[in-house]
Parts: sequence; C-alpha cells; structure tokens
Amino acid sequence: MVSLLDNWKRTHFTKNINSNLVDEEIIVMGWVHEIRDLGGIVFVVIRDRDGKIQVTAPSKKIDSKLLEQIRSFRKESVVAIKGKVQGSDKAPNGVEIIPNEIKVLNEASQPLPMDPTDKVRAEIDTRLDSRFIDLRRDNISSIFKIKSQMLHSTRLFFEDNGFIEVNTPKLVASATEGGTELFPITYFEREAFLSQSPQLYKQMMMSAGFERIFEIAQIFRAEEHDTLRHLNETISIDMESSFMTDIDVMEILEKLVNKVLVDVIKNCQKHLNILNVDLKLSQCPFPVVTYDTAVEIINSKGVEMEWGEDLSRASEKLLGEEYPGYYFLTEWPSEIKPFYVMPNEKDPTKSHAFDLMFGNLEISSGAMRIHQHDLLKDKISEKGLNPDAFESYLKSFDYGMPPHSGWGLGADRFNMTLTGLNNIRETVLFPRDRRRLTP
Ligand code: ATP
Ligand code: MG
Repeated sequence: MVSLLDNWKRTHFTKNINSNLVDEEIIVMGWVHEIRDLGGIVFVVIRDRDGKIQVTAPSKKIDSKLLEQIRSFRKESVVAIKGKVQGSDKAPNGVEIIPNEIKVLNEASQPLPMDPTDKVRAEIDTRLDSRFIDLRRDNISSIFKIKSQMLHSTRLFFEDNGFIEVNTPKLVASATEGGTELFPITYFEREAFLSQSPQLYKQMMMSAGFERIFEIAQIFRAEEHDTLRHLNETISIDMESSFMTDIDVMEILEKLVNKVLVDVIKNCQKHLNILNVDLKLSQCPFPVVTYDTAVEIINSKGVEMEWGEDLSRASEKLLGEEYPGYYFLTEWPSEIKPFYVMPNEKDPTKSHAFDLMFGNLEISSGAMRIHQHDLLKDKISEKGLNPDAFESYLKSFDYGMPPHSGWGLGADRFNMTLTGLNNIRETVLFPRDRRRLTP
C-alpha cells in the first residue's frame, strides 16, 4: 500500500548522518537502492540525492510486521524510514539506522527499464531513453552537479565584474547571422525562427547603455550533422561589453574559466573523484595562437590547409595535439567570420575575432564588433544578406552606439572540459539531436 507523507518530515539527508547522531530518532527519505535478506537480518540501502545509508533490520529486535514490510520492498521504490541511529563498524558510513516505522511512498514497477547501478553498462541511447533512471546514478548526476557549480560561479563572476544579467527573445523574425542553421516555426500567420544566438540583441543592449551584460540561455541550431560536440539545442553563456576591445574580453573569458576551475576544484572534489577526473588549474595566461600560425602548424603536420579556410576537424585535432589545454586562436580571416566582426584596420582581410579552444574543441567565439552603422550595413550586403531584414538592429547603430566586444561560450562544451567527457550528450539532461526529440 502506498502512503502519503502525512506529517512526516525528512530530518536528515543521508550524507549528514554520522556518529554524532547515535541514539537519535531520525527520518530519512529516498529510493531503495539495495536489499539483502539474510533471513535473520535484512539490510536495505536507502539512497537520496547526496548519498546512501544502510538500514538494518534484525528479526530479533524489530516487530515482525515491520520486518515483513521491509522484506517486501522493491528496488527503486520510494520510502521513508523513521528509526534510531546506531554505530556500526560494518556499515559503510560507520552508522546505520534501526527502523521503527516505515512508509512506502511509491512503488517501483519491475523489471526496471534499465539498471540504475553501475553493474550493467548500457549504451547511451538506452540510457537517454530512460534518462530519469540513468540520472539516479551518482556518476551521472555528478556531471550536473559540476555544471550547476559552473553556472553558479559564472553568475558570481559576472556580478563581481559589474555585469547585468539579461534575457533576450528566443522567437525571432529573421536570421542572426544568415545561414541555414535556423529552425523555422509558425508564428500565427507568418514564419519565425528559434534564435540561434542572442548576438543582435546583445549589441542593441550596448546602444541601450547597459555597458556590461550577460545572458545564459538556450540557443537553437538546425545543424544536420551528427557529431559528439553538436546538439540542436544548447546553452550559451554570452557576454557583451561596451568600451572594450577583443583583447579585453579575452581577458574576461580567461578569468571566468579560471574562476570556474578554482571553484569546481574546491567545491566539487567528490564529484570529480566519482568521474575519475583530475581537474587542474590552467596555465595562465592562455597561449595565444594566431590563425596564420595555426595554418603553418597544420600544414607542417601533414594536413593541407589554405589560408582563408575554416578549420576542418582534422586541423582541429592537430592543433589539439600541439595545445592540449585552453588556448586562443586569434586574427581570423574576415571572410569566414560573421558580418558584425570588426576587420583589422591595417589588413581588413584579417579580423578582431577569436576562438577559445580546449585541445581540439572550440568552446567559445568572440570578437570586437563593428560599431559604425555604414560599415556594418556594407558588411551585411557583402555577406549576401539583405540589410532591410536587419533594419531594427541597424537603427540602434545610428543613435549612439559605443565601441564594444563580446563572446559566446558554449556551456555544454565548457562542461565537457570540466568533466572529461567527449560526448556532449552526456552533459545535457535531455539532449536534442537530429534523431532525438524525446524524452
Ligand atoms: P562549431 O564550428 O564547432 O560548429 P560554431 O563556430 O558554429 O561552432 P559559434 O556560432 O561560434 O559556434 O557559437 C559559439 C559557441 O557556442 C561555440 O564555440 C560552441 O561552444 C557553442 N556551440 C555552437 N553551436 C553549438 C552546437 N550545435 N552544439 C553545442 N554547442 C554549440
Ligand atoms: Mg565559432
């Protein structure tokens, strides 16, 4: 029979149960992780968000009805246990609970769609199909606890540096950067799109005089390819700042990455250990590699690459061998960067755009932006886009737009660098790729 909570309140998370509580009556709530019935004694391991505790039911000490109830527990059912804490050399945390009263709050059907322990290795697709169970495993939930710390540290960092958090629309009328990577949607009687980047709004906020802003939000990309580092919905950490150059915002990015590393190493050691990750602070300042140098390195290592081309996957891999940690790639050709990127004053074939890489993985792109209306309009046309489609954006450049720079950092890719994972699907609760729209 399934019970309600009634007036029961959890007194402790399992991680807080220790020898100081011996002889106290406590209430724990969680999932039945394991049951071992040795006849005269039944051991049950209860798991909650942060840990596990052993409940020990010796037939001589407890009521036979209660013992029967415990014996009938099913794995992964949700239960509440009221009982006394007792010291125990054999119990994993040095303490165990002797139950007085229990409630089965909900029963789990059997068989389970996947094994929530690590005993059986399941393929990622099976795991994602039953993600709610997959996430019960501590080596999976650890990924998201590290991510939570990363996002928390990021917000603290921006706040400490005078940035204001903003939210920009995700339903938009036209393409941010052109291209085909947009999801069209029906917006009443017309077509609209899911936003691929907050770029244009970030820039308009510079004209609005906010000076330093950041946004942490979804971006949507209709990328058809199936890779380990692309999803169709992902989180972008975006910033924009007035009166700053590309060099200034690279420094901000580097400081942010370092702050996150320090905080994750300090506060998430348990989760790093569970994931077997030996996370280290990065060499500072990050190496800066110009695009020209990158082309040289790539050609010298046997992959042909012409000046002006974007990096192929093979090229990224070669660079990653040379620079396994975080490094900047700078002075990109203007041709392969979006229209809003500021060209180099002396050589306009080059630009003030940069990427932040981690080994062979691009994790951020940024630039000093064009703040002059006419130049921007020309660039839009040069890229084959129609300036009329950018009218409301362009307008903000005509009435007091300061010089500004910014970047977008892929939060899910950044999390891959913190957790040592090579498939971005692992770092997203419910990933969206070409084949997956559920759960
Ligand atoms: P890539 O060349 O790897 O496809 P991009 O240059 O198209 O990336 P940007 O438009 O520069 O991506 O976006 C800024 C950042 O957002 C990227 O550096 C990356 O970290 C992240 N990002 C972009 N697209 C995706 C995606 N489809 N899935 C996951 N993260 C992404
Ligand atoms: Mg990029």
